[in-house]
Amino acid sequence: MIIKGRKIPLIILYKEALLRRIPQNSPHRPKIKEDLLKYWSGYHGECKVDRHLSTLSQKNVLILNDLQIPIGKTTFQIDSLLIFKSVALILEVKNISGMLNIGGEFNQFSRTNNDGIITGFTNPISQAERYSHHLRQWLKANGFAQLPVDYLVVFTNPSSVLNGLPNSKQFKQRVIKVADLLKKLSEIQTDYPKTVLCDRDAKKAAKKLLKAHIDPPIFTKIEETILTGVQCVNCRTFGMERKKASWYCNSCGSYDKQAHVQAIFDYFLLVNPKISNKQARSFLHVNSSKVVHGILNSMRLNSQGENKNKQYVTPFHSV
Ligand SMILES: [Zn+2]
Repeated sequence: MIIKGRKIPLIILYKEALLRRIPQNSPHRPKIKEDLLKYWSGYHGECKVDRHLSTLSQKNVLILNDLQIPIGKTTFQIDSLLIFKSVALILEVKNISGMLNIGGEFNQFSRTNNDGIITGFTNPISQAERYSHHLRQWLKANGFAQLPVDYLVVFTNPSSVLNGLPNSKQFKQRVIKVADLLKKLSEIQTDYPKTVLCDRDAKKAAKKLLKAHIDPPIFTKIEETILTGVQCVNCRTFGMERKKASWYCNSCGSYDKQAHVQAIFDYFLLVNPKISNKQARSFLHVNSSKVVHGILNSMRLNSQGENKNKQYVTPFHSV
C-alpha cells in the first residue's frame, strides 16, 4: 500500500520556473539547465523503481516515497522506504550511466564515462548506511525499536555497468540493478523471517513517519531579474492581455483561458509562497481587482486573512 506517493520534486518546478522567467541572456542559464537534467534523471530513475514496486503484493508492504525526516539539527532523505512487518528497507536510487566503480579500500564511488573521464560521487552505500543509522535512531525514539532496518542501493540506468572493486563484500549484498529488485526483495524477506510488527503497528509507524516528514527547505534564491506578466504557451512571449474572460497574445494571436495558472504558480515558486490581490495585479499586468479576484478564486487555492488582507497560498509546500 502506498502511504506517500511520489511527486515531481519542488526543486525541478523551481528551476523550470526560473528558466521561464529569467532573461534569455542570463549567465545562470547553463548551470540551471545542467542541474535540471540531473534532477529529472534522478526523478525518472525513482519512477522506474516505483513501476517495479507496483507489482508487489500491496498488502504485505507499506511504501513511503521521498521522505525527509528531521533528526537532531539535520534531516535525512529517503528515496523509498518499504515497511514490511519484519524489516524496514531503505532504497537509495541512482540513475547514473557509465562504468561505476564502488567500494575498495577507501570505500569510494566513481564513474568512468565513454571518454575515460573519471568523476567521483558520494558513495551511495555509505550514504544509505548513514540513513539506516538515522532511521534506527528515529524508530527507537518513537517506540518501534524492535523493527530492524536494512537498505539497498538500486541502480536504474540500463546503460550503467557495475564494477565492484576488491574488498567489496557489502557491494555484492546491497547493490543491485532495478531489474533484480523484486527477486532481491523476496531474498531480504527470507533474511528477516521474524514478524516484529502487527498490521496495526506497521501502519502506525508509517503514519508517524509521514507526519514527521518535512518539505525540503526553500532553496537559496539567485540574484536575477524575474520577468513578470502572463506567458503565451504557444510562442513563449510574455505580456498576454486579459480579453473576453481569456488571455490574448499580441504576438501570435492565440487565446488561452488558463494562461494565468502558470504565472501564479511561477510567482509562488520564484517570488513568494503567498500572493495578495494587489501583488497578483502587478504580476499579471491586470488593473482590475475584481478580475484578479475572480482569477485567484477560480484556482481554488487555500487562503489566509480576509478582505484586503487576504493572501492566497502556494499549493506546492506548507508555509
Ligand atoms: Zn503567443
